[in-house]
Amino acid sequence: ALTIGIVGLPNVGKSTLFNALTRAQVLAANYPFATIEPNVGVVPLPDPRLATLAGIFGSERILPATVSFVDIAGIVKGASEGEGMGNQFLANIREAEAICVVTRAFADPDVVHVDGRVSPKDDIETIHTELVLADLQTLEKAVPRLEKEVRAKKADAALLTAAQQALALLEQGTTLFQGAAAAGLDLAELAPLQLMTTKPFIYVFNTDDDGLADTAMQDDLRAHVAPADAVFLDAKFESELVELEPDEAREMLEDNGQTEAGLDQLARVGFHTLGLQTYLTAGPKESRAWTIHQGWTAPQAAGVIHTDFQKGFIKAEVISFADLVEAGSVAAARAAGKARIEGKDYVMVDGDVVEFRFNV
Ligand code: GDP
Repeated sequence: ALTIGIVGLPNVGKSTLFNALTRAQVLAANYPFATIEPNVGVVPLPDPRLATLAGIFGSERILPATVSFVDIAGIVKGASEGEGMGNQFLANIREAEAICVVTRAFADPDVVHVDGRVSPKDDIETIHTELVLADLQTLEKAVPRLEKEVRAKKADAALLTAAQQALALLEQGTTLFQGAAAAGLDLAELAPLQLMTTKPFIYVFNTDDDGLADTAMQDDLRAHVAPADAVFLDAKFESELVELEPDEAREMLEDNGQTEAGLDQLARVGFHTLGLQTYLTAGPKESRAWTIHQGWTAPQAAGVIHTDFQKGFIKAEVISFADLVEAGSVAAARAAGKARIEGKDYVMVDGDVVEFRFNV
């Protein structure tokens, strides 16, 4: 499964957040694919549409899509020098598809900050520096090699150009994810080099009540990390929230002036950052969200349920969630002309409610 690696300096609340994520974890019985390892948290993607579908179809159970987070220990200054923990740290980051940087934005004088002061921007800079240095090392070896290979016509000139552009960006200290757009650099070109800072980033600001209410501070930090997404949450509060029954949790959130739990926000943001979307199936047994990549066609989507569905794909009957809710049933949606028959070139839209027809 695609995973999001969680990184952060010591004492920023990373373990508190990660423990909350593992407490919110889905039941392994319902998700046999989810090998639940101690450093992985597989959390449900919140999707209120599923409860609505379950109501329409009388489904026995609801199976949301999931998002996997992996706890990556060991970032310290000097990690990029590759000694001991540093090496392991970098290897673990390479395996993740996206990087979630957790920073400290809560005051609490009882919790010591490694750098002696609370400054999320400095936390980010420290982490970026290690990742940027590691990518610089990769490119300083790769560029001369590519130059030779391009001369010998064994490598693509476009890759070399992209690598040189990337090197220039990294030398300014910016991550490739953040700097690419302005530099006109296509990150996809760099894929063969397996760089770390080309991965999409998410920033979590672990804050307190004051921070959650401070929209000016949040806007400033959002702008600082753009085009990445920012999530503001109180890890300690979230870890208490996951211990409660759903009704109690909702009440506690309302008392705190929040409409959605921070963990739910993080799951949604993480899912989209990975370039994923869902489509829905529903019946008396279950209402379920299936995970696909943005831009996938109907047969590709069918293949997520079963490879035979993709091989034998004939067509898909698709009703948009909104149309189905408005009609009230599949039969009524069909009668109203809202059920579309789509072929193998159809590109899936988030929220499609689908039934596939296939040959076995
Ligand atoms: P890690 O080293 O980044 O994994 O940090 P921990 O999760 O172990 O947290 C370090 C300390 O900060 C612990 O004493 C936590 O209880 C405390 N802490 C974590 N999150 C919060 C928070 O949101 N608010 C406050 N006040 N303390 C927190």
